[in-house]
Amino acid sequence: STFTGLGLNPLITTHLTTKMDISKPTSIQRASLLALLPRGDITSPRDAFIQSQTGSGKTLSYLLPILHDLLPLSTNSYIDRSIGTLAIIVAPTRELAKQISDVIDVLLKLRLRPLDAAPDDESNDTRLTRWLVSGLLTGGATRGHEKARLRKGIPILVATPGRLLDHLQNSSSFDVSKCRWLVLDEADRLMELGFADTIKGILACLDGSRKLALQAVKEGRSMEVRGWDWDVKRRTILC
Ligand code: AMP
Repeated sequence: STFTGLGLNPLITTHLTTKMDISKPTSIQRASLLALLPRGDITSPRDAFIQSQTGSGKTLSYLLPILHDLLPLSTNSYIDRSIGTLAIIVAPTRELAKQISDVIDVLLKLRLRPLDAAPDDESNDTRLTRWLVSGLLTGGATRGHEKARLRKGIPILVATPGRLLDHLQNSSSFDVSKCRWLVLDEADRLMELGFADTIKGILACLDGSRKLALQAVKEGRSMEVRGWDWDVKRRTILC
């Protein structure tokens, strides 16, 4: 199957092929696109528990559905980054958060080019994702500096759990009222590192309308996450 065949926005598919040299979905990506892209009359929030090995393309398995979901908003000229945060990705370490943020930055270079433009002519490209920017919140900067960035608006946020909860509870300009996605990347490691209560606190700050994509890496460990008391229905994708 192809990305477009699975229902992914063709603009994203083209971008993957031409800019990232990615032409076929991996098995985890196929499964997660089937579960997380809107399909028919299924519009209610769904959760996914994505489990796969490192190197299987797991990062894109949740980033592609998120971008697909947010892209139509990005072409709406009445919306800008003051809409607040639409997607939050929680990672256990600063290093992983930075890696995820780098992948998002490549994805967000998505451009719309005139149909008659020569393949190598980028001069007329219009950046489709004008306000759809990403940001890191990992405690690497001072709290005040992070607050200022949140005030400007960070539509796609990658964060470590402690700092995220801190801002959710203490930064009044951090608007998550329209947040549609929460991803817990390496959820098993988040648990292992003792972040269970922090994650519960984060969930309490977000309303029930978001989708949740959990991601665990090692099979044995995933049971801990599965036994966790979620307030919304889960969908499990194992690859
Ligand atoms: P990850 O499992 O997310 O750490 O991804 C591992 C590597 O696989 C990254 O370098 C990705 O760029 C690459 N990758 C992800 N999806 C695909 C795909 N569908 N085809 C080829 N390479 C991919």
